[in-house]
Amino acid sequence: MARTPLLIGNWKMNLDTADARALATAIRAGVEDAPTVECIVCPSFPALAAVRDVLAGSRVSVGAQNAHGAERGSYTGEVSSRMLRDCATHVILGHSERRRHSQETDADVNRKAQTALAAGLIPIICVGEDESQNQAGETRAVVSRQVTAALAQIEAQAAARLIVAYEPVWAIGTGKAAMPAWANEVCGEVIRALLADLYDARVAETVRILYGGSTNARNIESYMAQTDIDGALIGGASLSSAEYGAMVAAVARQAG
Ligand code: PEP
Repeated sequence: MARTPLLIGNWKMNLDTADARALATAIRAGVEDAPTVECIVCPSFPALAAVRDVLAGSRVSVGAQNAHGAERGSYTGEVSSRMLRDCATHVILGHSERRRHSQETDADVNRKAQTALAAGLIPIICVGEDESQNQAGETRAVVSRQVTAALAQIEAQAAARLIVAYEPVWAIGTGKAAMPAWANEVCGEVIRALLADLYDARVAETVRILYGGSTNARNIESYMAQTDIDGALIGGASLSSAEYGAMVAAVARQAG
């Protein structure tokens, strides 16, 4: 089954609303000629509505960078998936920076994924081993545990809508991008195989699995040439409309 290539920009905590609006405007103009690539950008909460307005009617969708696991309630400072529906279609969950700085657990990611799906958002579930786990040969075990936990109690029909991003922690923001063949092995032999085990072949073939970690316009094609990598979750390079546009153009050319 052909899966639509997908490039997601994670702007992290870098842009105020004016900057986010300007970047979204430039990205909108820059990706018009690449209709075969799905594009999503993920601004910070305060900029979501402005970016949604800039991108209305375009091919670029909007995602949030996090959501709370409860639908509503006394959680001062938090934002629920139900609230995000006004501005976003997707939400990044379990990014390694949240696991590290906000002590998010696998159980938290699962709760958030269930709540996001119930609210009609598409979760982008991030998994990946850190450097010491990688060096200890624990990648497969760590990624399997994270994926299995994130999907607990999620039915096949809902699971088929998810996006999974394999992001080795040691590759994020370091310039040390994972070897494409290695990333493909984790995406295919671990994550897609697990989806087939937990659900069935249809879910495994439908879910898009992305690679994330120091991707840019120079290396994106080597990832997209892999059988089980359907796109990228992009941090630093997504903050430049020229770089993000060049990545989208490269993927469109490659997809033919
Ligand atoms: C990320 O933060 O998800 C990421 C992949 O960042 P970068 O592309 O900068 O490594």
